[in-house]
Amino acid sequence: MAALVLTAPHEFGIERVPIPKPASNEVLCRVRAIAICGTDAEIIEGTFKGRWPRAYPFIPGHEWSGEVVAAGEVAERYGFVPGTRVAGTSHSGCGYCRMCRTGRYNLCFNYGREDLGHRQYGHYTQGAYADHVVHTIKAVFPIPDAMPFDVAALCDTASIALHSVRRPGIEPGDVFVAVGSGGMGLLTAMCARALGAARTIVVGGGQRLARAKDLGFETVDYHGADPIAVVRELTGGRGADVAVDSAGTKDSVRQAIGMVRKGGRVAFTGIPKEPSSVDFQKVVLEEIDLYGVRANRNTMEQVIPLMNDGRIPAAKLITHHFPLARFAEALRTFNERVDGALKVIVEP
Ligand SMILES: [Zn+2]
Ligand SMILES: [Zn+2]
Repeated sequence: MAALVLTAPHEFGIERVPIPKPASNEVLCRVRAIAICGTDAEIIEGTFKGRWPRAYPFIPGHEWSGEVVAAGEVAERYGFVPGTRVAGTSHSGCGYCRMCRTGRYNLCFNYGREDLGHRQYGHYTQGAYADHVVHTIKAVFPIPDAMPFDVAALCDTASIALHSVRRPGIEPGDVFVAVGSGGMGLLTAMCARALGAARTIVVGGGQRLARAKDLGFETVDYHGADPIAVVRELTGGRGADVAVDSAGTKDSVRQAIGMVRKGGRVAFTGIPKEPSSVDFQKVVLEEIDLYGVRANRNTMEQVIPLMNDGRIPAAKLITHHFPLARFAEALRTFNERVDGALKVIVEP
């Protein structure tokens, strides 16, 4: 089969590799669509070298959809018969540790122990930029017949957005702020609205912020005035109820905390790569609740029907499609935001 094979940081090509074989609890899927994730771009750059991937050669890709073509014995008994249309996700816990048994498999104590059954596809386990991919049935979810494959490739990232707003919680009528106007920021705004936020403010810049406005969100341009001051002004001086930071910069994490009201909740879903100084006096004196978010858990089955009926209109974020053979061009389009690129779909 054809696959995108990384051989070193920045070095990749489309190569012929053997089709993997599914074990008893696994399925072999024909991949139909993969969405480029910011993490893919960083894995290709070598930002997480030694961790994601652990070694080269490596096939990245974790936001994908496709159909089952072969199932292991146990997988088939669970209903994953050939022809089943599915969307994939990256984390699969060992299933036995305390974190897994309490439902927090994204924090599995046996992270990285493939010998104990742990997987993180497209991060350290082989991923989906290929004609075929093998996944455990813990990391694939059936999708409705009516859901196109390119939209289904967004289920993973939308499920992370849903987990990101469920961590701090949305109360009906809340004022929500998405800090960051990329794909994840816009998806957190869509999820917050779907869960009952009355007002949804997106903080960002450029063409992406214009898209946020088109989607019906209030917008704040961080290039202009201090975004904390603007959000306070928009909320009668009080601050928002909930903020989710998806930008992960030293400024965005500080701003997200600065934007919430007394007793407010803030979640962080962007992975910060630099230290930040946060106003911990505010956190203490105003009882601010802070939540780390590591990818997703248990939200694929929640997000799929909400995407399917349009309450989370993730399809509106797709800007480009490329065949796998033109991956280099697809990646450049994504990285350089060519023509307002947001979610770029790759089709094997
Ligand atoms: Zn991703
Ligand atoms: Zn575990």
